[in-house]
Amino acid sequence: MEHVQRWVFRLRVPWITWRARRLPDPVERLRYLRRATTVRIIPERAPRLLLAFGATAAGAALLIPGHPGLLTRDVAPPPASGVVLRQAKLAPDEVWMVDSREGQYEVYSNGLRVETAGTVSYHPRSWRRMIRPSLDPGELRRDPAGIVFHTTESHIAPFEPGQTDRLKRVGRWLIDYLRKERSYHYLIDRFGRVHRIVREADAAGHAGRSVWADGGTVYMNLNHEFLGIAFESATQSGDGPAGSVTPAQVRSARALTEMLRARYRIPTVNCVTHAQVSVNPLNHRIGNHTDWASNFPFLELGLPDNYELPVAAMEIFGFGYDQDFVTSTGGRLWKGLLLTEERVRQAASAEGVSVLPYRARLKEKYRKQLAELPASGESKEKAI
Ligand SMILES: [Zn+2]
Repeated sequence: MEHVQRWVFRLRVPWITWRARRLPDPVERLRYLRRATTVRIIPERAPRLLLAFGATAAGAALLIPGHPGLLTRDVAPPPASGVVLRQAKLAPDEVWMVDSREGQYEVYSNGLRVETAGTVSYHPRSWRRMIRPSLDPGELRRDPAGIVFHTTESHIAPFEPGQTDRLKRVGRWLIDYLRKERSYHYLIDRFGRVHRIVREADAAGHAGRSVWADGGTVYMNLNHEFLGIAFESATQSGDGPAGSVTPAQVRSARALTEMLRARYRIPTVNCVTHAQVSVNPLNHRIGNHTDWASNFPFLELGLPDNYELPVAAMEIFGFGYDQDFVTSTGGRLWKGLLLTEERVRQAASAEGVSVLPYRARLKEKYRKQLAELPASGESKEKAI
């Protein structure tokens, strides 16, 4: 029976490909390809052409100047052959709390356990939407719209059985410090334990000056807008290997990300690293903080490779980058950054100006928007 199904599917491949090619709009084309291939066991050889074509269509959609973007990013990464195609979306009832003890822990249906003892509060979350592309003020929001991933940049001891006591001691000290500073919403320690630092309903001081955007909204200074998850890790070496996270941390981060995405309907485009959103308003460069400027395990967390997404600060507000930033990425510039440079060139050319004056205009927009925001940490209710 399966043999027959494979044959039928193989026969359909040229037809699907032909039809897809006739759709002039890449987004429509991608939607069609999704429809035509969803929930189907992919046989070993036949669909390679189709998958390649699908990937090309996704790439083309991302290259449309001014394309809100990023609608296409909820598509799961191209699967290995034999894998069921499915969209990377989570409904709230896909992950739910199954057990809890007030002030001690919460357990979720996907295996996530959150340690909640000692959770602190901060400014209640409140932010006003900035509508894209007009940058006009929108409605007031109290839910988080995304997640920023960090490293704690703290001292890292070698991850070895003989170091267990030291690892636990360093971890405890770190949690106390982060709670005092209201630094993040969650910390994932070296053993993969998930600690709630600041209540989800409050802001945390994790993102500072920062910019991100999805298809309909621009986010500035993300302490209120996005949740902050930190891995106990460091980009620079302590006396352990630099930039490393443990397999237990990755597993827990996946479960935590699933829970938060389900609870708040967070799209994958809004799951990004601090290096992708951090900006320096003084010199107008991205990458003021460079934690997770490379090697973030997006795919292991069930997310697409979001280093391929356009860099919002560059595209919307004319930010640039320097050699230090290139070094922080390990010399491998993100695909999304190169894509953004091309978009900025195209947008400038569409307005009949060269890139420099075009970017100067965008920078002016940033200064204007920044001046209208309340001081960092305060409620954004007045930011209209
Ligand atoms: Zn950070």
